[in-house]
Amino acid sequence: MFAALRILKDVFGYDAFRGNQAAIIDRVAGGGDALVLMPTGGGKSLCYQVPGLLREGLAVIVSPLIALMDDQVATLDELGVAAVALNSTLSAEEQRGIAERVRRGEIKFLYLAPERLVQPRMLDFLQRLPQLALFAIDEAHCVSQWGHDFRPEYLQLGQLAELFPGVPRIALTATADMRTREEIAQRLHLQEAERFLSSFDRPNIFYRIQPKDQPRKQLLAFLAARKGDAGIVYCLSRKKVEEVAEFLSAQGFPALPYHAGLPNELRAYNQKRFLNEEGLIMVATIAFGMGIDKPNVRFVCHMDLPKSLEAYYQETGRAGRDGLPADAWMAYGLQDVVFLKQMLANSEGDERHKRIEQHKLDAMLALCEETRCRRQALLAYFDEVLEKPCGHCDTCVDNVQTWDATEPARQALSAIYRSGQRYGVGHLVDILLGRENDKIRASGHQHLPVFGIGKALTEGDWRTLFRQLVARGLADVDLEGYGGLRLTDACRPLLRGEVTLELRRDLKPQQAAKASGSS
Ligand code: ADP
Ligand code: ZN
Repeated sequence: MFAALRILKDVFGYDAFRGNQAAIIDRVAGGGDALVLMPTGGGKSLCYQVPGLLREGLAVIVSPLIALMDDQVATLDELGVAAVALNSTLSAEEQRGIAERVRRGEIKFLYLAPERLVQPRMLDFLQRLPQLALFAIDEAHCVSQWGHDFRPEYLQLGQLAELFPGVPRIALTATADMRTREEIAQRLHLQEAERFLSSFDRPNIFYRIQPKDQPRKQLLAFLAARKGDAGIVYCLSRKKVEEVAEFLSAQGFPALPYHAGLPNELRAYNQKRFLNEEGLIMVATIAFGMGIDKPNVRFVCHMDLPKSLEAYYQETGRAGRDGLPADAWMAYGLQDVVFLKQMLANSEGDERHKRIEQHKLDAMLALCEETRCRRQALLAYFDEVLEKPCGHCDTCVDNVQTWDATEPARQALSAIYRSGQRYGVGHLVDILLGRENDKIRASGHQHLPVFGIGKALTEGDWRTLFRQLVARGLADVDLEGYGGLRLTDACRPLLRGEVTLELRRDLKPQQAAKASGSS
């Protein structure tokens, strides 16, 4: 291990390995295969860079992210390590030049995209080299169809095992539940690889999820205590990205937009500013962030619901990489659910794929309506057990109240049923509160037995209740029809009186604003 430590100090300028790094490096430097699960920011790069330097020959790094490859090459360059990235922007002549330097043994690290590596000519080229140090497969979860980043090219990487039997392979990822892990091992032919699992907990991140009421106001309330901090605000649509960036700028928070629809130069310029200047807010679609290494991002906000917990974890994980306190804040509402379900229904893809996506969305919703520790729930999703509530998330510190919603839930379900399972929340609430407006009269719903039975609750209470019913799968949005609510099989036991229903009580807007200011 002494040699590894020397390299760590002499080349990279660090004093000690972190977490599993030393064990992983030991394994790979010794010629063994490894499957590494480590959260973003955990220090995965050193896990192949150090063994790459320790071993004779070229180290080949496969990554789907060009930006990330370029970053790493630049960093290695500065450290005086010979590294290049092969990508499609290079001319044929430049590529030949690189090949020549590789052949002469002048290059230590070769970064390339998977589709590049598996080209017969490339494989042939590599096989002719006298010695390869290792293969590193970054973002290994891309091989999983269960994951949200599936890349068919990754499937072909399995052949490396047979083509290069003596060369150690290390697969790395920051997102993999048990199931994805198995898929990686199987598809990349890494069944024999030693597994290194790091905890995914990010203890310095404070998690907060609020019901969406007046989202911009809520966002401002959250930001009020964070003036001058750098952060990311995620929105679902490009249009919303631009609107929110403008809004924040007008409110005195320096904000930049980022989405795939902006001209390349502007996008690159905004990204550069965000990385190099202090205290900027990047308002972005999920196009922003992969491979961004800015340690002092103090908060990540979600103005819209991510479509899975994997996405939520990745995106919030960009906060607080320096280990100092950071916040993950989200506002979510029924509209988000309807919208994502609609996208899902309209998406291409077979039934199996849709079922998986649906399952992932359900898990995301469950986290939003969670009444216990959010961190415990989040880690549990990644098959990790946190023994005690964390004391550092909203549900832990706010002392979330629950209430027995059995009776109102029955009334709400019955309003859905009696009105023909065709109406949206607004109309259903009008029925429950007994409001005789035009739409009610036109449908004759003032004569329904449920008309006006819900006056004990406020409009806000009812909206919350409907959101929670949908989130828990007790009611569903009819996407073929007009987007009205309908009953699901799952609600029958409740209607029959066989079970009760405990729901989390939403904080009132003022309480919520106060709470997020003080976290
Ligand atoms: P990942 O790929 O897991 O997201 P990186 O490899 O990019 O993480 O590392 C994240 C940051 O941590 C980088 O700035 C890196 O230089 C730093 N880092 C990694 N390992 C160490 C270490 N042993 N000591 C100090 N800094 C480290
Ligand atoms: Zn907690």
